[in-house]
Amino acid sequence: MSDTTGSAFDIVVLGGGSGGYAAALRGAQLGLSVALIEGDKVGGTCLHNGCIPTKALLHAAELADNARDGAHFGVQTQLTGIDMNGVNAYKDSVIGRLYKGLQGLIKSRQITVFEGYGKLVAQDTVEVNGERVTGRNVILGTGSYARSLPGLEIAGRVITSDQALKLDYVPKSAIILGGGVIGSEFASVWKSFGVDVTIIEALPHLVPNEDEALSKAFERQFRKRGINFNLGVRFSGVTQDDSGVHVSLEDGKTCDADLLLVAVGRGPRTADLGYEQQGITLDRGFVITNERLHTGVGNIYAVGDIVPGLQLAHRGFAQGIFVAEEIAGLNPQPIVESGIPRVTYSDPEVASVGLTEAKAKEVHGADAIETLEYNLGGNGKSQILATQGFIKLVRQKDGPVVGVHMIGARVGELIGEGQLIVNWEAYPEDVAALVHAHPTQNEALGEAHLALAGKPLHAHN
Ligand SMILES: Cc1cc2nc3c(=O)[nH]c(=O)nc-3n(C[C@H](O)[C@H](O)[C@H](O)COP(=O)(O)OP(=O)(O)OC[C@H]3O[C@@H](n4cnc5c(N)ncnc54)[C@H](O)[C@@H]3O)c2cc1C
Repeated sequence: MSDTTGSAFDIVVLGGGSGGYAAALRGAQLGLSVALIEGDKVGGTCLHNGCIPTKALLHAAELADNARDGAHFGVQTQLTGIDMNGVNAYKDSVIGRLYKGLQGLIKSRQITVFEGYGKLVAQDTVEVNGERVTGRNVILGTGSYARSLPGLEIAGRVITSDQALKLDYVPKSAIILGGGVIGSEFASVWKSFGVDVTIIEALPHLVPNEDEALSKAFERQFRKRGINFNLGVRFSGVTQDDSGVHVSLEDGKTCDADLLLVAVGRGPRTADLGYEQQGITLDRGFVITNERLHTGVGNIYAVGDIVPGLQLAHRGFAQGIFVAEEIAGLNPQPIVESGIPRVTYSDPEVASVGLTEAKAKEVHGADAIETLEYNLGGNGKSQILATQGFIKLVRQKDGPVVGVHMIGARVGELIGEGQLIVNWEAYPEDVAALVHAHPTQNEALGEAHLALAGKPLHAHN
């Protein structure tokens, strides 16, 4: 074994996904010497197997729906088919451009990249390809993998999002195990591509982490789109043969399809990486840190999906930046988890930030909370887009807005304003005083706050 790196780096980052590469880029920007160790491709899950490819598929799906629905707008279009090779070529070209850009950025910041799977062998050292890479600080960002259920083997027609993103054909039918963000996004894409889709969700609702009002509206719209779902029921087993998959549920029902997509969550990639041997505390595989993302061991920090909480790329970015700044002595503000926006990019989209009504009541007391729903029916741009949905605001009585929850086409693009409102602890009157452009969907946020401030314009008192 050799130590080819000579002196120690200021930071050694293990894993080049959203969390890891953000830490590396920010560290280098702050003048620190950085080693980035990546076993596969920098960019990680989000760029190669997550956010970007799914959103490309969802965009293609939207085009398919537009082609199908042209007549509604007086445009004579027709959907004649989905060419998955073409869809994949488009998707891969988006990934390719972003990947190239990221590699260029990493190079230009003079980050030393080690290609290979690393292992923590001392509190300040990662071993990769037989080399020992030492750092005054170590940042763990090894990410997550698609989980399955005990006894449910991923093989053949039983797939996870990893295989689903690479399908070179459109299945006739699919069963999706899990109605969370990933399951719902695939359900949406496949339905738009003409697949007969059935979701199985053990919890009482689809997108079960959202405010219940949003989950219910989401279910109504999915039902209207002809997406089938079974709620509050557990999967009990699957067999597969040449004709397809045969899934049985605990309530005795069975369903058959071409494919079973397992979307039951993502587990932390922390096994056999030397973390526990170096004294790091793991809880069900997740790395436990304090609010400054320090593991309590040496100068070791953790970022991204291996840290318990929302498994989102922008949380990883924020955590990576935070840790780099912490190491550089900038004493950054800890990240407030509830201030992180969450978007499900299906049709309809769901976007939220802050506390749900139920959570706000738990935190502040049921009597201290007021809510308001503003229907997109009163919003000109939403009518033009022929979308349905609403904005639900949650506020402390006589206090700031603590939650913004939205459903409808393109509401993901509105969450930027929502997050400013919640994180800057704005009062409805503060937002009501700001002029929103007409006709935009954004205007619906302005109108909702006007209504909450007691002076609705395009809504009833
Ligand atoms: C289908 C899907 C859709 C998603 N859509 C969205 C979305 O729209 N928006 C959003 O915010 N989030 C989305 N996510 C979640 C997002 O991808 C993750 O939250 C994010 O990638 C986490 O970043 P990370 O840095 O923690 O880990 P990862 O991105 O998983 O990166 C970890 C990296 O570490 C590398 N690695 C692991 N072990 C080692 C080792 N021992 N040595 C060297 N390298 C190693 C891996 O190869 C990988 O590149 C989606 C996820 C999936 C699966």
